[in-house]
Amino acid sequence: MEYRLIADYHTHTRYSHGKGTIEQNVMAARRRGLKRIAITDHGFNHIGMGMRLEDIDRMRREIDSLRKKYDDIEILFGVEANLISMEGDIDIPQEYIGVFDIILMGFHKAVMPFSLKDGWRLFLKNALRSAVPLCDAEKLRYDNTMAMIRAMERYPIHTITHPGAKIDIDTRLLAKHAVKHKVFLEINSSHGFMTEEYVRIAMEEGALFVINSDAHTPENVGNMARGLMIAQRAGVPPDRILNSQDFLY
Ligand SMILES: [Zn+2]
Ligand SMILES: [Zn+2]
Repeated sequence: MEYRLIADYHTHTRYSHGKGTIEQNVMAARRRGLKRIAITDHGFNHIGMGMRLEDIDRMRREIDSLRKKYDDIEILFGVEANLISMEGDIDIPQEYIGVFDIILMGFHKAVMPFSLKDGWRLFLKNALRSAVPLCDAEKLRYDNTMAMIRAMERYPIHTITHPGAKIDIDTRLLAKHAVKHKVFLEINSSHGFMTEEYVRIAMEEGALFVINSDAHTPENVGNMARGLMIAQRAGVPPDRILNSQDFLY
């Protein structure tokens, strides 16, 4: 299968725990011949590495001026929001939802939960799962998946990042709802998630995908080799990949 990727929708900068500036990411994307890049730093509850609310205006202004400077690439101001509760809350206050051009959402550890109860159910239970047989793994997987589904119902989420990484989910159920809400599932080039098997299951449900670098350095912007390999092996048609030149949906 031939894939020609023309965009990278998931890159980090110094505003979270990436190494480069926004402009360095943009220049790297241009060098790779991409037509679109999203700057998607971590959400506000990410401990020690989230974006800060007070940086939002500065980032927006920076992106606006880069848009004028480089007219051969489209630059999106995004965020990789965190799932923070069983009810599908994410760590973007309601009044800031409209600020972003694109909202990705994923599960990460080291994030401030919505409440103590969510801290226990969503973070601690998942962390303990492999060490202690204290809870029903099936139930935990279902609850995790429902939390993600609720987030898709409540917020304008564009993509679920690295589904299945750091958290156990029911891929088929998630894919069903992603299709319903027109949410893309990411094939992540840094984590190697989704796995080939997950991609196959999601494909059966009609899911649409996006292959991203999840770059934390400018050099890795547009480096989607690993994601491409997974898509290739799973046999994903290029017309089902958002950032492929052949995307059809
Ligand atoms: Zn992530
Ligand atoms: Zn990321």
